[in-house]
Amino acid sequence: MKTQHKALIAGAAAGAVAIPIVAARKLNRRPARDIRSEPARAPSYWMATIPEIPPAPQLAGDITVDVAVVGGGFTGLATAYYLKRHDPSIRVALLEAQTMGSGSSTRNTGGVGRQLRGQESTDATQRGYELIRSFEEREELAFDLNEEVAALRLHRTLETIDGPDLVGDELARQIGSSFYQAAEAFTASSLHPGKFITSLVNANRQLDVELYEHTPVTALDRSAGRPVLATPGGQVTAGDVVLATNAYTPQLGVAVDQLLVMHQRVIVTQPLTDEEWDLSGLGHWSMRLEHGTYYTHTVRATPDRRFFFRHVLGHRSQEAVSWNIDERDIATGWRELLRRYPWLENASIDYSWLGVTARTRDLWPVLGEIEDHVYLSAGYNGGGVMPSHYFGYLLARRILGHADSDLDQLIRLPGEHPSWPPESLRHPIFQGAMRYRRLLDGRR
Ligand SMILES: Cc1cc2nc3c(=O)[nH]c(=O)nc-3n(C[C@H](O)[C@H](O)[C@H](O)COP(=O)(O)OP(=O)(O)OC[C@H]3O[C@@H](n4cnc5c(N)ncnc54)[C@H](O)[C@@H]3O)c2cc1C
Repeated sequence: MKTQHKALIAGAAAGAVAIPIVAARKLNRRPARDIRSEPARAPSYWMATIPEIPPAPQLAGDITVDVAVVGGGFTGLATAYYLKRHDPSIRVALLEAQTMGSGSSTRNTGGVGRQLRGQESTDATQRGYELIRSFEEREELAFDLNEEVAALRLHRTLETIDGPDLVGDELARQIGSSFYQAAEAFTASSLHPGKFITSLVNANRQLDVELYEHTPVTALDRSAGRPVLATPGGQVTAGDVVLATNAYTPQLGVAVDQLLVMHQRVIVTQPLTDEEWDLSGLGHWSMRLEHGTYYTHTVRATPDRRFFFRHVLGHRSQEAVSWNIDERDIATGWRELLRRYPWLENASIDYSWLGVTARTRDLWPVLGEIEDHVYLSAGYNGGGVMPSHYFGYLLARRILGHADSDLDQLIRLPGEHPSWPPESLRHPIFQGAMRYRRLLDGRR
């Protein structure tokens, strides 16, 4: 594999010309959207409250590398890191459209699962979880991995839960909300997403991974059978390409029918007063997930005792990765928060941001070699902190020629996933369901 890469570098130096492929063989790709048109993303609380990551340059000129990774989030940075860690002699470039971690990876809640969203934990996913822990230990990093977080899964009715741990008035007293009827308790894990991204960037820099920011890949073509990526500043010829673009993947015209883009919003209040903190119960139950699949809410305590609330905005179109938030969306989110925690009425919001998740119909990520020498890992269904890191590791090993039974178990190519309804129906279906859900919330 490596010898092939070296030969490719020599060939490209002689001046290869990219020939666009009209239709890829394994995957019915569509042309990429204008990826440069996405507005710059405002930083989240996680990034606004830690030291800034030193910037990386924009790609200027053509390069040839062994592996090109597209996307500088958890998936891309893990892939690049493990590639170079396992084989320091290869040349790896990571191309990020905006800045490192500016996608979902620093816009999330920071819960770290030991299973894929909606599935049972397995030995493979448990190993994925352990890998994050060993990454923190080995690199002597600190991203606040906390494995003892008291968490609740909250149910609005008793019908959806067997043997609840907390019900009724006692639940209301412990969490400062009478919106729910029952809850099951579990021990969750969490980390600081901003610190995790910073650690990943630093670890990549130490291994001499070439990091490029403000370098959107605008087309994926082929030259002499090998992938060629177009960017505004130059072309990247690669032995292998990893698309680590999660909810942004449909913009590239890839997995458009399998990945559904859902828009999320997060609200973070000012630090709570002692009285509010006690009322919230966040000192004990510091992470809460609402039972459900698509239109759930999450609550977590921040390190400086703020109230963190995530809610769903919905689906707009498959390629749209930014949501033009207006007064109505803001009022709706605030109303959803106050329905659950009315005592926050006078709290001010210090931070608020948007983010995207990628949903698959079977709740299983899209993972594997989708075309010759082109790999994809995406579609984490809002539970990507652990799988993005582990799948990056597994893809890195596969590219370097190692066999992993975990990867064989976890692979699911786009063609093996059920498709979402046609694009024209998705927006009305999901927005209609959102309205119905809010109506139910209001009736309680
Ligand atoms: C509000 C919210 C809360 C969440 N909470 C949790 C949680 O508690 N626990 C959990 O496990 N998961 C959670 N998630 C999901 C988790 O954040 C994601 O699954 C994870 O961050 C995915 O990482 P990624 O690297 O694959 O994608 P991203 O972090 O989105 O990275 C993709 C990167 O690719 C770049 N990119 C896209 N297109 C191109 C292109 N053409 N050229 C170059 N670069 C490109 C983007 O700019 C982006 O930086 C949440 C997500 C959101 C939005």
